[in-house]
Amino acid sequence: MVTPARRQYLEIKRQYPDAIVLFRLGDFYEMFDDDAKKGAEALQIALTSRTFGKSCRVPLAGVPYHALDSSLAKLLAHGYTVAVCEQLSPPGRGLIERGVVRVLTPGTVVEPNLLPERANNYLAAVAPGRYSIGLAYADVSTGEFAVTELSGAEAATDLQAELARLSPAEVLAPEGQTALIGNSWRTTALEPWHFDPASARQVLCRALNVSTLEGFGCEQWSAGVAAAGAILAYLERTNPAAIRLFTEIRSYTTAAWMPLDASTQRNLELTESARRGELRGSLLAVLDRTCTPMGARLLRQRLLRPLVDRAALEQRLDTVAVLFADPGLRAQLRALLHRIGDMERQAGRALQEIASPRELLALRDALVTVGRLRRLLVEKAAGTALQSIGTDLDPCIETAALIERAIAPPNDGRTIRPGFSAELDALRAGILETQEWLAKLEQRERERTGIRSLKVAFNKVFGYYIEVSKSNLHLVPADYVRKQTIVGGERFITPELKERELQVLAAEERIAETERRLFQEVQREVGSAYRRLRRTAAALAELDVALSLAEVAADNSYVRPELHNGEEITIIAGRHPVVEATQGRERFIPNDCRLTETERVLIITGPNMAGKSTYLRQVALIVLLAQIGSFVPAERARIGLVDRIFTRIGAQDDIAAGASTFMVEMAETANILRHATGRSLILLDEIGRGTSTYDGLAIARAVVEHLHDRLGARTLFATHYQELAALAEVLPRVANYHTAVTEANGEVVFLYRITPGHADRSYGIHVARLAGLPACVTERAASLLRDLEQAADGRDSAWRVAEPRRPHQPDWGREGDGLCTGPGNGRAEAVLSELLALDLLSMTPIDAMVRLYELQQMGRRSE
Ligand code: ADP
Ligand code: MG
Repeated sequence: MVTPARRQYLEIKRQYPDAIVLFRLGDFYEMFDDDAKKGAEALQIALTSRTFGKSCRVPLAGVPYHALDSSLAKLLAHGYTVAVCEQLSPPGRGLIERGVVRVLTPGTVVEPNLLPERANNYLAAVAPGRYSIGLAYADVSTGEFAVTELSGAEAATDLQAELARLSPAEVLAPEGQTALIGNSWRTTALEPWHFDPASARQVLCRALNVSTLEGFGCEQWSAGVAAAGAILAYLERTNPAAIRLFTEIRSYTTAAWMPLDASTQRNLELTESARRGELRGSLLAVLDRTCTPMGARLLRQRLLRPLVDRAALEQRLDTVAVLFADPGLRAQLRALLHRIGDMERQAGRALQEIASPRELLALRDALVTVGRLRRLLVEKAAGTALQSIGTDLDPCIETAALIERAIAPPNDGRTIRPGFSAELDALRAGILETQEWLAKLEQRERERTGIRSLKVAFNKVFGYYIEVSKSNLHLVPADYVRKQTIVGGERFITPELKERELQVLAAEERIAETERRLFQEVQREVGSAYRRLRRTAAALAELDVALSLAEVAADNSYVRPELHNGEEITIIAGRHPVVEATQGRERFIPNDCRLTETERVLIITGPNMAGKSTYLRQVALIVLLAQIGSFVPAERARIGLVDRIFTRIGAQDDIAAGASTFMVEMAETANILRHATGRSLILLDEIGRGTSTYDGLAIARAVVEHLHDRLGARTLFATHYQELAALAEVLPRVANYHTAVTEANGEVVFLYRITPGHADRSYGIHVARLAGLPACVTERAASLLRDLEQAADGRDSAWRVAEPRRPHQPDWGREGDGLCTGPGNGRAEAVLSELLALDLLSMTPIDAMVRLYELQQMGRRSE
C-alpha cells in the first residue's frame, strides 16, 4: 500500500528513467531510491529515508529549493541528466499536481550560472550515413545552429578534428553507433528514430518555418539533416522553449578552413596547455583581451578555424590595422565594450521568455552603448575597414525604449514601472488608500487605547495583527478579538483589520499577476527583435575580436604579416608568442625562418633544451596567427599561405591516454604522410624516438625522403639524430640548421639561436650534469663518449669498443655523491633508485646507453 504521492512520483520517474528526478515537496527538492544514492554522493549530502504509507520506506536525499542552481551545477558536472519536477497547482487539499518542467543535460542548459561565459556550450549530434557522416551542433544559449557532412576515407578522423574544435558539452548519437565519437566527449545514445532522415527533415523544416531546406544549403545532406533533426527532437524533450532560438541553420563545409587535426590543436596548445589542460599557457590566453563574452567566444572559434582564403584574411587584417594605428580610438571603443554584458544570451533568454528583469535592463543598457559605439565608428572610422561593423551595429531603438518604459529599476520592489500600464496603475492606486490606512493604524490605535507600546505587525500565518504586552491587557477595547498568546502578551485582530487585509492581499495578488503578464509581454516583444539583436551581438563580437588582436599586437610589438599565395615563408626575428609572454620579452631570443624553393625541408639538430621544439612551434604559430587574421610576433613576416598544419610533437603527451607512444607516433606520422600536400606546413619533432636507435633513425630518414621527394611540403624537422644532417648532402632541398651552443668554463651555454649547419655534438652529458646527475656518473659518461667518438668506422664498432672495456675504477665512495656511497646491498639499492629515477623519454639513445652501461657497472660491483 503506497501513498498517492509515492504513486505520483513513480509515474513521473517512469518517464525519466535515465535522469535524476528532483521532486518538489514543499520547500525541498527530493530524490528517492537510486537517485537519492547517486545524488547524495554527488552533492555530498546526507542520505536518509522516508516512509510512504505503512510498509514503504525508501532512500531519500533532498536539497532546499534555494540551493537548486548550485545542486544542478554539481549534478551536471558529474555527468547526470536531471529532471526538475515542480508543483503545478497551489498547495491545498488533496494531491498537488506535479510535472517535469525542465530536463537538464550538459548540452541543453541555458541557466547563466551553469554555463561557461567565455566559451560556447555546444550540443552536437553525429549521424553516420551510408556515404558520409552527418554532424550538427547547436548552442542553446546563443542560437548558433550549424550542420555539415564529412565524407571520404578520412571522415572518421575529420570528425574527431571537428569535435576537438567544438569541444561539445554533449554529443548525441544513435544507439549502437556511439563508438565513432570516441571517449573524450559525453555521449548520449538516442533511439535510432531520432535520426530518421525523413522525419528529421520535417522537424527541421517546421522549426525553421520553411518547406524546403534549399535556402539553407543542406537539402542534399541527408546525414547532416538527420543529425540536425536529432538535436531538435532531443530538445523537444529536454528544453522545448530553446527550439525557438533556431531561426536559421548554417551549412558549412570544413573546406573553408584550414584543417587542424585533433593532435595538432593539442600540440600547438591553442586553447589549453598540453601539460595541464588549462587556459593558462595557451595561445588563446595571450590573445584574449576581449571585453565581452561574445567576443571571447568568437576569438576561440577563430583560433580553431584558420582561413585559407587570402582576400578574407586581408579584410580581417585591414580591420586590425585600423585599430592598431589608433590607440585613442581603441581605448574609447574598449571602454564602451566593457559595459556590455552577454547580450547574445540575454536576447536568447528573452526570446524563450525566461529572462529576469535585471537581464532586460542589462540588454537595454547594452543597446544604448551600441548606439554610442555606432556613432563613434561613423565619426572616427568612416572609409576604413571598420565602417561595415559600424553599420551592422543596430541599436534596436524601439526595443531599448520599450524596456526603458516598462521595467522598473533594480531594487524598486516593483517589476513594471508606473505609467507603463493604466490597468496596473489603477490596481496599485486602488490599494493605496488601504495601505495608508494600515500604515497609520498603529498610531491611531495607540491614541485610541492609550497603550503606548501597542504594535501592528504582519506575518505569513496570521496576516496583520495588533500586539499588546501583558501589563496593558486591561486597556484592550471590546472590539479586539484575541488570536494568540505569546510570551510577553497577546495578539489581536479586529473585523475591520481583517477586511482591509483581505482587500490588500487580493489586490496584491492581482497586481503580481498583472505584473507577471506584462513582463511576459515585454519579453515577447523584445524576443520579436531577436534576429536583429543577434546580428548586433555578432557585429559586437567582430569588433571585440579585432580590438583584442590590435591591443595584443600593439602591446607586444607584433607586425602585420604579408600574405601571398606562393610557397615561400620568410620570418625575420620571429618569436614564440606564449613563451615570450611567460618568460619575458627581453629574455627571448628571436629567430629567423626561411622556407624557400631550395630550402624546403629544414633539419634542426642540437642538444636537449636548446630550443628546437620552441622554434618549430613558433614558426607554426606565426603562420597560424597570420591565417586567423592576426598580426604576428616578428619584425617582418612574409607568409605563403598553407593549406594545413601538421604536427608531431613530443613523445610524452600520450602516455596518459594509454596508447603505446611509438604506436601513436607512427599513426600520427602516417596520417601526415597521407594527407599533406605541397602546400602544407609540417612540424616533426623527434620522430622515431620511441624505438631503438636504428629503426628510429631509419624511419626518420625514410619520412624525410618521402616528404622531400614526393610531397615537397614545407617541413621543419627537429631531431637529436645528428646522422640525419648528412641527408642535406644527398637531398637538394634539405637544409641543416642547429641550435647554437657555446661552452664557458666547461659548462654548456644555450644561445637559443637557430644557425645554418648542423650541430657537431649533442652535449647530452652536459645536459645531464645540469640536470643534477652525480659527478661520478657524468665523468664516466664523458670518458665513454670519448671512446665512442674515437672509434673510427661508424657506430657499430664504436659500441663494440665501448662495451667490454672497464677502464678506470671510479671512486665510488667519494663525498658529495650520496648515491655512490656504501657497499653491497646499499649499492644495489642505489642502482635501483637511479634506474627508477631515469626519465627515459627525455633521454637520447646515447644518454640512455651510457646510463645503462654505468648502472650495470655499479650493479656488477655490488654482487
Ligand atoms: P629542445 O626542444 O631543443 O629540447 P625546447 O624548445 O623545449 O628545447 O626549449 C627548452 C627551453 O628553452 C624552453 O622551455 C624555453 O624556456 C627556452 N627557450 C627556447 N627557445 C628560446 C629562445 N628563443 N629564447 C629564450 N629561451 C628559449
Ligand atoms: Mg624538444
